[in-house]
Amino acid sequence: MIESYKGISPRGDLLLLRKLADNLAGKTFLHVNSTREGGGVAEILQRMVPILSSLGIKARWDIIKGDDRFFDMTKKVHNALQGYTEFIDKAMWEHHYKVNEENAAKLDLDADAVLIHDPQPAPLVSFRTGGVWIWRCHIDVSNPQRDVFKEIGTYANKFDAAIYSVSRFAGAMCPNEFIIPPSIDPLSEKNRELTIEEIAETANRLGIPTDRSVILQVSRFDRFKDPTGVIMAYRMVKKYNDCVLVLAGSPATDDPEGAEVLSEVRDFASNDPDVHILLLPPFSDKDINALQRMATVILQKSLKEGFGLTVAEGMWKGKPVIGGAAGGIPLQIIHGITGFLVHSIEGTAFRMRQLLNNDEMAARMGQHAREYVRQNFLITRQTRDYLSVWYTMLSKGKSLIEL
Ligand code: UDP
Repeated sequence: MIESYKGISPRGDLLLLRKLADNLAGKTFLHVNSTREGGGVAEILQRMVPILSSLGIKARWDIIKGDDRFFDMTKKVHNALQGYTEFIDKAMWEHHYKVNEENAAKLDLDADAVLIHDPQPAPLVSFRTGGVWIWRCHIDVSNPQRDVFKEIGTYANKFDAAIYSVSRFAGAMCPNEFIIPPSIDPLSEKNRELTIEEIAETANRLGIPTDRSVILQVSRFDRFKDPTGVIMAYRMVKKYNDCVLVLAGSPATDDPEGAEVLSEVRDFASNDPDVHILLLPPFSDKDINALQRMATVILQKSLKEGFGLTVAEGMWKGKPVIGGAAGGIPLQIIHGITGFLVHSIEGTAFRMRQLLNNDEMAARMGQHAREYVRQNFLITRQTRDYLSVWYTMLSKGKSLIEL
């Protein structure tokens, strides 16, 4: 399987990946998160687990289960860590722990390395047996609500290492901290090359007109992704440039607020026939791929963002992406070269018009964007980095790490 990345991923990444995998072959590597569908974490795990297996590592992916009360609480934790004010009382924290305790009794947590994704399953660390335990924080904790950060910190502290997507997120929560940005898989259904017919089929079926420029944002319906801000920017542009706006999202099982935000967005769009709000079923990867390929300009106007995989996905398709200057988006968008960073609705509208009116600039930006993703944000690089952290933790105390 890893052979298929030859000629796509940088050679050095593939070489190091192989060397690390040879050293870790036969060992068990368990990933745990809280949903199999929806959002960036599930997106990466679906692809990374088979890659790890093909490298000879016994990789497993489990999810924790919880009731509505649990996911309401963990969404509050997510919001608070990203800076919103939320009140989480002692009983809620106890429930968080209890649900994890129940999951720990059912899951097989025995592995050589365990990677726990995000705050939902963080308390599982209280039930660790052997192995290297690593906490993977995917969310934007640059300006968290302090009390919530502290509670999560009591768990983070029990891990051997913590991994963040962006250096600004590292916050002395854990003795060993690493920065590893996420990645996309160029060979997945979401990112593989599509034929013109395949793109046209999706446009037809979803009712997207192809005779005008398409502006696209793909996101869960979440306020941090600012879908109403996107509609406002589109309205400013629409006065001068005829275009259609597509907002595509799908429900994530660990995000209870999605339905409410979706209905707010629908009200806000108020029957504009050129605003297409698509609620796609989970695993609509090929349709998302096709939407990204038919777009003229891609937006990711997030106000807070972990990394923003949709940015790399759009860039990989050679599209100019306009992204909110939040979380991991500035890691991907070099302003004016691989895309545009924006801080306001007006700024977004301004950059949209600039790109809609200048095909040559849009094409050049798209080319730079694709190359930047190739060098930095492909899944082979991220797999290499995870294995490096694991190997480093096994080599602790050694002054020389042999590969
Ligand atoms: N996604 C999807 N369907 C949707 C909306 C999003 O498959 O309707 C995917 C999107 O293509 C990306 C991931 O979910 O791969 C979202 O990751 P991102 O880091 O952008 O945001 P998150 O949801 O993790 O905050």
